[in-house]
Amino acid sequence: MKIAVIGCTHAGTAAIVRTAKLYPDAEITVYERNDNISFLSCGIALYVGGVVKDPDGLFYSSPEHLMTLGVKTRMRHEVLNVNAEGKTLTVRNLENGEEFDDTFDKLIVTTGSWPIIPQFEGIELDNIILSKNFNHSNMIIEKAKTAKNVVVIGAGYIGVELVEAFEMNGKEVTLIDAEKRILSKYLDAEFTDRIEDSLMEKGITLALDEKVERFEGKDGKVQKVVTSKGEHEADMVILCIGFRPNTELLKDQVDMLPNGAILVDNYMETSVKDVYAAGDSCAIRYNPTGKAAYIPLATNAVRMGTLVALNLVEKKIAYMGTQGTSGIKIYENNIAATGMIEVAAREAGLDVAVATFEDNYRPEFMPEYEKATFKIVFEKDSRRIVGAQLMSKVDLTQSINTLSVCIQNKMTVEELAFVDFFFQPHYNKPWNYLNSLGFAAMDAQPASEAEERAARSVKEQTNA
Ligand SMILES: Cc1cc2nc3c(=O)[nH]c(=O)nc-3n(C[C@H](O)[C@H](O)[C@H](O)COP(=O)(O)OP(=O)(O)OC[C@H]3O[C@@H](n4cnc5c(N)ncnc54)[C@H](O)[C@@H]3O)c2cc1C
Repeated sequence: MKIAVIGCTHAGTAAIVRTAKLYPDAEITVYERNDNISFLSCGIALYVGGVVKDPDGLFYSSPEHLMTLGVKTRMRHEVLNVNAEGKTLTVRNLENGEEFDDTFDKLIVTTGSWPIIPQFEGIELDNIILSKNFNHSNMIIEKAKTAKNVVVIGAGYIGVELVEAFEMNGKEVTLIDAEKRILSKYLDAEFTDRIEDSLMEKGITLALDEKVERFEGKDGKVQKVVTSKGEHEADMVILCIGFRPNTELLKDQVDMLPNGAILVDNYMETSVKDVYAAGDSCAIRYNPTGKAAYIPLATNAVRMGTLVALNLVEKKIAYMGTQGTSGIKIYENNIAATGMIEVAAREAGLDVAVATFEDNYRPEFMPEYEKATFKIVFEKDSRRIVGAQLMSKVDLTQSINTLSVCIQNKMTVEELAFVDFFFQPHYNKPWNYLNSLGFAAMDAQPASEAEERAARSVKEQTNA
């Protein structure tokens, strides 16, 4: 079996390593246009902030490691064309410009994503940098040495982590976003208001509800970001607006979402037989809505990559979909979210109710304890949990994984209130905070008799 793989970061590496173990006789060739593999971009802000000292720790595989598994890794080789039905591809060696064709029995597309680059006037100026790969992180660190004013555009997870890192390095930092709130896709205002306060307390300027219009510079270098509301001095600008799938190679050949994310079945096969895809190049089933969505995360990438390998010859293990579960630490706050925030659920047309619960996470007789805040979003009629968020100075973020499982398994708020969790005063109270969150939901929106009946019937059908 001849297997070609395009792209070798998280999805690619996961697919290759598992395929090589399962099929030691397969001839596996991976083409990667970059000069490194398996870079953990999640470490960029920690590297920029000086928490990660040795960049070697940001990689977990190498061409040499793949060679020990019998895999041919062609670094600095870009795939230029794919004929999905004809099972051929054209490759360019980026070192010497040589082009050649290759064939495959199975193709694994793990070409990932690339940052969205808006075409503002002045975008070509120096010191306007992306934040995606190892080269970007080195460039950010190099340019930051002489930069005083740093502007980050895009207040998602990446942008917020970067402004914290720059502030800790003594820079004057501005965070710009067209939305009115930071992290507006991940958290509701109860949480983002507090995080915004913590950023402003550190002296970070939040330029929210501002649209970037152009960049101005001198001698080819950026100096200013001009927005709908004013101007911001900038020696360096980081663009973190979002990502688009890197899927030009398969355009008009396989089914895709309008943004170009490849649609795969539950076994990671595209609409063309023997062509598989995984990671940021793909759409994924979003369990709160049951629909395909674009949720580029390393967690989805490694799971999907592994599932490609497991299903490559025979469809064996179906993907369960995702809740888009995520976590972030901003200064002393540990924050995590899963599924839909209230705003998104309402925008999607779900008839939801919400509840918040705030309490010390463990008994007050303990020498120390901390307040923790939780929010739950659930469907009024089915009582199904569709989203949750939490924040605390103590690290309770693993609890969001429990709530992710609840959403995955279509659990109701009543079930959350009574599910079995341990009690031990070091860790929690007799009613675990997640049980209490279930009660808060029941108090906020008691189920009518009809709703209880409906929820029971949904559960019975689910369990049948
Ligand atoms: C700054 C930052 C922080 C992040 N933090 C987190 C986090 O904390 N948690 C989390 O879950 N996710 C995080 N993510 C998201 C995560 O990094 C991505 O979801 C993940 O990298 C996706 O992996 P992938 O292999 O699908 O795609 P990519 O990482 O995009 O890799 C695709 C690979 O394909 C190669 N390629 C593309 N086209 C070709 C071609 N034609 N020929 C040859 N090679 C090609 C590329 O060079 C690249 O190496 C973060 C992302 C960034 C940028």
